[in-house]
Amino acid sequence: MIKGTGVSGGIGIGTVRIVKEQRVVYERRRVRDTEKEIARLMEAVDGFVRATRELADKLESEAGTKEAEILRGHILILKDPVLTSEIEKLIRNGECAESAVEQICNMFISVFSARDDELTRQRAADMEDLKTRLIKHLLGMDELKLDDLPPDTILCAKEITPSMTAGMDKKNIAGFITEKGGETSHCAIIARACEIPAVLGAKGIMQLVHNGQSAVLDGHTGEIILSPDEKTMAVCREKKQHYDERNELLRNYRGKPSVSADGKKYAILCNVGNSNNLDKIAVGEGEGIGLFRTEFMFMDRKKSPTEDEQFEVYRSAALKMQDRTVVIRTLDIGGDKDVPYLEIKEEDNPFLGLRAVRYCMKNPDVLRVQLRAILRASAFGNIKILVPMIADLSELEFVKTMTKQIMSEFDAKGIAYKKDIRTGVMIETPSACLIADLLAERADFFSIGTNDLIQYTMAADRGNSDVSYLYSVFKPSVLRSIRHIIKSAKNAGIPVEMCGEAAADPRMTPLLISFGLDGFSVSPSSVLPIRKELSGYTKDSADKITETVMKMTSSDEIKAYLDSVVGI
Ligand code: PEP
Ligand code: MG
Repeated sequence: MIKGTGVSGGIGIGTVRIVKEQRVVYERRRVRDTEKEIARLMEAVDGFVRATRELADKLESEAGTKEAEILRGHILILKDPVLTSEIEKLIRNGECAESAVEQICNMFISVFSARDDELTRQRAADMEDLKTRLIKHLLGMDELKLDDLPPDTILCAKEITPSMTAGMDKKNIAGFITEKGGETSHCAIIARACEIPAVLGAKGIMQLVHNGQSAVLDGHTGEIILSPDEKTMAVCREKKQHYDERNELLRNYRGKPSVSADGKKYAILCNVGNSNNLDKIAVGEGEGIGLFRTEFMFMDRKKSPTEDEQFEVYRSAALKMQDRTVVIRTLDIGGDKDVPYLEIKEEDNPFLGLRAVRYCMKNPDVLRVQLRAILRASAFGNIKILVPMIADLSELEFVKTMTKQIMSEFDAKGIAYKKDIRTGVMIETPSACLIADLLAERADFFSIGTNDLIQYTMAADRGNSDVSYLYSVFKPSVLRSIRHIIKSAKNAGIPVEMCGEAAADPRMTPLLISFGLDGFSVSPSSVLPIRKELSGYTKDSADKITETVMKMTSSDEIKAYLDSVVGI
């Protein structure tokens, strides 16, 4: 079995068709009549623009406006005066148009590819696609056409570019497999919009496949099986049928509000652990971001991201979500998340040590940079601040005081920010649960982090399998804590959401409705299942289930009961 990144759910079963980008070969010449060469370039640009508009219109009818915008974006890039004037400059120096286009595009490609963030790297792929197509127009070559595919084709390529997807015969495509690309690549966006299962970033796949080979891919797990035997195929077919039926059912909840059977409205937001998920949420069903884990920006690098770098990421999230909520969590490092360059000293009990807000209080400059970036970005959307690992009122006060100081500095300098920005608290320690009434008087909202709340309440490491029998949200102590936290928020009149994994467990839905939770923050793939679940209960029916559950004494009993009443 081969593994890549599953970027568009579903099981694809079919026959491999390898797509090779046609090689563009040209002779590098010196030109004398440079004006004539520039005119040739302009003619190719016009051809490119016309063809791209046609492809974009086609893509719009097949996938949607946003997807077509990707291709229209290529026209904008090409019309950028910097790009065209650089190309023209080289031609005036005697380069032929093909070589000038190649050199200038390559220059941008290497700048974009060297950047840390995935979205800018994606711009390199755009530029690569544009370069190849423009040179083809100069050479009078036809574009690659994929409009005659037999049914159940699994397209396998080094990379599938937006222009390739536009001309494709999508109804006959059972899946995409590529060597390059990931969550945010255009192929992923288009695959999701067209509901085609896709596994991207499957390194080395092109050496292993051949045309006509049978293959199966799982667009969720990223698994690829080449030439499966009959037994495996039968299992995969069953999996596909199950997936398709469930998908069909969930489809009814697309674009619908998240409401219970008696009409109470809920927010279903998404958890984001890296900027790759943003596009999925922006085009998908998530009603905003309920938890933006900012740690990813600090990991896998040699020094902390600067204020400007962080600002760009937060601003881009705010702009992508438009007026939808974006809850940005301040740095939650320490515990199992080590960032070597921050030199957190070795601790005997890292989960009980200098983690999250505790680290930030000890290293206020790190927090200051982050808060400045968040506040600046707040001028561009509906951003909220969330503070993790709170155990004491002083920690919330620390963050609020620093936020106020920065706001005064910004006021003095005329820097824009959202004046009524909300600051919320993650309730994930037993202490925070016990002082929830006091925190609720001082915080603008709560977000319950069940992943940690369970571990700290049960004193059971969330990653230690030897104590996993203790690690369950269905433990009576944990359920009572959740009930108490929600009640404290309600008493104080502040909203309360849940962003731990338990929010996505359908067995928890009736309990959370009954306790009075306002919002759920889950991974993008759990939005529709939870919306469906919510629609199945009235407050009364949820109360009845909850009453029974809260009388039970063991998590096994509770789970067995909930399994019997919740139609997963
Ligand atoms: C949690 O603890 O529930 C949570 C959402 O935070 P993390 O998993 O990032 O610790
Ligand atoms: Mg946590």
